[in-house]
Amino acid sequence: MSNIFNSDEFLFTPLGGSEEFGANLNLYSCNGELIAIDCGIAFADERFPGIDILLPDPWLLEENKERLKALIITHAHEDHIGAVPHLWERFKCPIYTTKFTATVLRKKFDQEGVEGTDIRVINLNEDIEIGVFTIKALPVSHSVPSSFSVFIQTPHGNVLHSGDWNLDPAPVTGSRTEEKTFQKISDKGIIAYIGDSTNAQVNGFSGSEADIEKGMIEEFKKCKGKIAVTSFSSNIGRVISIARAAEKVGRSVVLIGRSLHRMVGSAYDCGLMQDIPEFLTDDDISHIADENVVFIVTGSQGEHRAALARIARGEYSSVSLNKGDSVIFSARAIPGNERNINTVKNNLSAAGVRIVTPSDTKNTIHVSGHPCKEEIIQMLQWVEPDCVIPVHGERLQLDAQAKLAQACQVKRTIVPNNGSVIRLAPGEPEIIDHVETRMLAVDLTRIIPVNHQSITARRKLQYSGAVHASIVLDGDLKVLGEIKIDTIGLTCDRNDDCIIEDLEENILKSICDIEADIVRDEEEISETIRISLRRYVSDIFRLKPKTTIHVTCLDI
Ligand SMILES: [Zn+2]
Ligand SMILES: [Zn+2]
Repeated sequence: MSNIFNSDEFLFTPLGGSEEFGANLNLYSCNGELIAIDCGIAFADERFPGIDILLPDPWLLEENKERLKALIITHAHEDHIGAVPHLWERFKCPIYTTKFTATVLRKKFDQEGVEGTDIRVINLNEDIEIGVFTIKALPVSHSVPSSFSVFIQTPHGNVLHSGDWNLDPAPVTGSRTEEKTFQKISDKGIIAYIGDSTNAQVNGFSGSEADIEKGMIEEFKKCKGKIAVTSFSSNIGRVISIARAAEKVGRSVVLIGRSLHRMVGSAYDCGLMQDIPEFLTDDDISHIADENVVFIVTGSQGEHRAALARIARGEYSSVSLNKGDSVIFSARAIPGNERNINTVKNNLSAAGVRIVTPSDTKNTIHVSGHPCKEEIIQMLQWVEPDCVIPVHGERLQLDAQAKLAQACQVKRTIVPNNGSVIRLAPGEPEIIDHVETRMLAVDLTRIIPVNHQSITARRKLQYSGAVHASIVLDGDLKVLGEIKIDTIGLTCDRNDDCIIEDLEENILKSICDIEADIVRDEEEISETIRISLRRYVSDIFRLKPKTTIHVTCLDI
């Protein structure tokens, strides 16, 4: 295939995040030079047993390393930053981002032991020349500090890559999304608006972080025992609102969870935590009365290893929640995480803990950081793009934003798939090609393709179980000693000993059928036994369990 980046064109290719929530990775190329925007993780669901996180495959960046001038990170949410420490060494380009995100990223690199990184802190509203591109980071409000949209100027024209944003009229940290900022770039002409689709199906406005403090005070007043509030650890504005609300009702705050400490630490480093009452530490917990404490805990998505799930299972040594205590969910469920969240809620409920979610109360205890319909309409009116390309969401949300743009009289909309190569200019924007996109899985410390045989095997084991037999044969194919047979995860109407005897008999029969005078190797013998046994067990169990045979032939 000839390299799509050889052309003198301005192209956009989403490599992740445009068919699913998470794993955002976007690529712009102009006259043969590339910049990438964001490089995040997605949460793995039950299709990937034993895997917690997925990454977008950066193969296209790797193959075009010498053309890749920059990775720009719009904000410190995991779906935008989380894959960088895992993948950066594969393409090693300079990373441009604002101070808070840079601080978080440095901590992540340190934790992963990645060295030689090149992080360049940029100022908002400043033009930065990166090869053929001129980039400007435009401040927007979002549920993490220092988020920005990227205004990309090229010789072929300009586009606005929105990143995640909303129109919070009074953000607790960071800037508002200002009308004048976006009208100013509109004056320069915008070929395409490439934007956040998360809430494109939701009517109205997302609301304001400023309302959370009041909502939390009202909720806290209803609680008698200990209170735990769970939220995204990167939502520093939320941490501040919870801390202020706790102070007003005479409670002290303890932060629980590593990522929360990392994020709040970064916020302190960047001077974002001024005038906030001091947090207590784990050591103070035993000295505080139940009615005087608010825990802010990680794990709002039901993550198995996060603090809230461990507390709910009674596995967190310094914090226990029981009858009379309350857990407030100050977050929405990211689609796909509902089952894990319910597991946590069930464990809490079984311990007598009262659970409050945003839908259980009229008080504002959560607002989304993403633009709802009215906000998207407002942005399109400010920017007046010729074309809208929805990204950041599943197909439903992308289509909803496209429909909204059409209703706003935007001339053209293009709904991409991951891998769609869109020519933005010259000419009218259109999809001109498709590149392969894949996902990678983080398996403890290794990164493997999601279709790796280990994951396929785990999935199969999960649903079909396994049978394994070990056999030692002599040169005449006589069985020496015992045949060892194990079954995993299989049930049928007959008792287990009986089944093992039957399986053994089947194996002996297959061995008898093998003609000993024809020279065969161990592999061939194993395969013959395996095929016969597999057929037999699938008859008994009405499943096709993973069947493995280990044959050792002595003197063959
Ligand atoms: Zn996002
Ligand atoms: Zn975000």
